[in-house]
Amino acid sequence: MTDTTGREAGLALLREHALIAGEPVTSTKRIAVDDPATGEILGHVPELGVVETERAVHAAHDAFPAWSRSDPHKRAAVLREWARLIDENTQGLGALMALENGKPFEEAKGEVAYANSFLKWFAGEAERLIGETQDSPLGHVILTFREAVGPCALITPWNFPAAMLTRKLGPALAAGCTAVVKPASQTPFTAIVLAELAQRAGLPQGVLSVVTGDAATIGGVLTASPLIRKLSFTGSTPIGRKLAEQCAPTLKRVSMELGGAAPLIVFADADLDHAVAETIKGKFRNSGQTCVCPNRVYVERSVADDYARKLAEAVSKIPVGGAFEPGVKVGPLIEDKAIRKVQDHLALTKASGGAVLTGGEPHALGGRFFQPTVTFGGDDALFRREETFGPLIPVFPFDTEEEVLAKANDSEFGLASYLFTRDLDRALRIGRRIEAGMIGVNTGLISTAVAPFGGVKQSGYGREGSIHGIDEYVDVKQVTLALR
Ligand code: NAP
Repeated sequence: MTDTTGREAGLALLREHALIAGEPVTSTKRIAVDDPATGEILGHVPELGVVETERAVHAAHDAFPAWSRSDPHKRAAVLREWARLIDENTQGLGALMALENGKPFEEAKGEVAYANSFLKWFAGEAERLIGETQDSPLGHVILTFREAVGPCALITPWNFPAAMLTRKLGPALAAGCTAVVKPASQTPFTAIVLAELAQRAGLPQGVLSVVTGDAATIGGVLTASPLIRKLSFTGSTPIGRKLAEQCAPTLKRVSMELGGAAPLIVFADADLDHAVAETIKGKFRNSGQTCVCPNRVYVERSVADDYARKLAEAVSKIPVGGAFEPGVKVGPLIEDKAIRKVQDHLALTKASGGAVLTGGEPHALGGRFFQPTVTFGGDDALFRREETFGPLIPVFPFDTEEEVLAKANDSEFGLASYLFTRDLDRALRIGRRIEAGMIGVNTGLISTAVAPFGGVKQSGYGREGSIHGIDEYVDVKQVTLALR
């Protein structure tokens, strides 16, 4: 039975306006937002442009002096109150995300808790903005202060409409920065509700604005403005590169959380049932649309058939459906183009000799639903180069440690990697040599507020979450005291 209460709770929170300095802003030009499960239009957001974005930038600039100099304990209190309001609205926010993104309602509620964990963690970090003292060889005393970078531009993707926002806003606000947020056009409603709740929690006007509209126009204003001192972007590598270039003339601080093509390696000594269960957890969250999803699985040849058979059997039982159907684990993909990408990857794998073990077809539900799919064999080169971003998992056998390490590293990306082995020596030996920002050993889940999240190579730079996350939003200032 469909959970209509959940759906209605989501629709009740839907707001068709952007928010600039605490004021709702509309426009005659609008962007339609659909439900990926049905294609039905859920509502619209205003298509704002240069003038409104500049207004938001000025608001962030004007609010910066007071917010950055405010008592960090007060900022922590606002973050905690915001988190409390989010907790209180878990049902509605989860439902809204399920509607605009298509992810299962239960998973969306999980994202609300995950998103909130960043606000709770960084509330604590606001209280720990600790400096240092040091004796200088010149006979002085050096004091260091960690000061807010300035007004920030935060651009987020559609796959985690809440968590990608709070993972940036938590540390930014804790540090004393102000922000202009540009959410993804496919999932803007969650960001607008979150910003409204932040206002209700006591965030002063101007500290946070949410601007919706044409990405290149808004991004152009945000990156060109000398008033914006920092850009944090989560999204695709090509857009990340472009934005980094746009930030160069004003020498902004930049953090880039970009794409991945994560390898998952299973050695013969691994607990295969556990490896299969964790592969599924890692791969099929958000219907395979996460940057840390295993994109290619390598299994030691002696157990490869066994692993692939177990994986295919388990994957064939994954319930697929609309977000509000009970028990559903995989939903629709975000857009039609995403389905075509899965089909292209599948066709190329088959053409290179890969066999389909389960799935392989558009789902009977039609539209943007695709069957969870496992393939075996064929050429892995495509999956080193490109993330599938859908429910397709290709499995390839390997023979030696050196061979699999070379394959794992033969990618321009370096975000997440996964290893399954009972041999701790090997886990560390290989783990240390894999070129990635994050390594899961015997687990498919590596994301939490307390762990540093981020990549190397073309997966970007900077870290979110953990004790390092706030460093992206502070400058270290030294004061040298000549004591007489
Ligand atoms: P995307 O196309 O790069 O879009 C991301 C955001 O950038 C959206 O808000 C988008 O706005 C905006 N944007 C697009 N073009 C822009 C431009 N010229 N100037 C300024 N902003 C621009 O990526 P996506 O398809 O939404 O997200 C999926 C990608 O994100 C994948 O590659 C995934 O791996 C990556 N990702 C990385 C992480 C991480 O932490 N490393 C986490 C999640 C996702 P519109 O929606 O209006 O186009």
